[in-house]
Amino acid sequence: MDNTLLYQLLERIGNLLRAEQRLVGNELGLQEVHLQVLFYLSHCNRYSNTPLGVSDYLNATKGTISQSLKVLEKKGYIVKEADANDRRVVHLILTTQGQKLLKQVVPPSLFAHAVKELSDEQVKSLTTQLSLLLSRLQKANRARSFGVCHTCRFFLREEDGFRCGLTQEALSHDDSFRICREHE
Ligand code: SF4
Repeated sequence: MDNTLLYQLLERIGNLLRAEQRLVGNELGLQEVHLQVLFYLSHCNRYSNTPLGVSDYLNATKGTISQSLKVLEKKGYIVKEADANDRRVVHLILTTQGQKLLKQVVPPSLFAHAVKELSDEQVKSLTTQLSLLLSRLQKANRARSFGVCHTCRFFLREEDGFRCGLTQEALSHDDSFRICREHE
């Protein structure tokens, strides 16, 4: 089967969304990558909110991410916090200002308007099919899945809540819906 049309569609959608993101970023004095970093930090878990987690997720070099983090910190959108158990590890935390900014710009209005035109059933079906395609791409690329915690093979349901089988730490309900660098 010829997959060219599917590829063209995905590329066109990606281009339109990126153009919108660039426009919004320009108005705020931010680059596209800055908004991508903030969005990632808003839905990743505590094992993944590190500079390395950001570069892995965005497939960007450590240098690019390091520069972006400096800008975001200077503008007051993130703060850095040392890990309680390992002072060499730094966690990147969204500030209230960063959260407010994201609420204004994500998802981009172009996307929100277009999706409003679709039925719940259509959105559900698209989400399922695109998730499948993404997981195949990640597998082919041997990339980390960055999946949602409650779908991970290490996720444990216990009588009094949830636990990560990898770190043995307790997980909250909110944690269970966050994406994780260690997800398998
Ligand atoms: S259960 Fe999996 S996804 Fe969740 S925190 Fe542990 S390693 Fe990460």
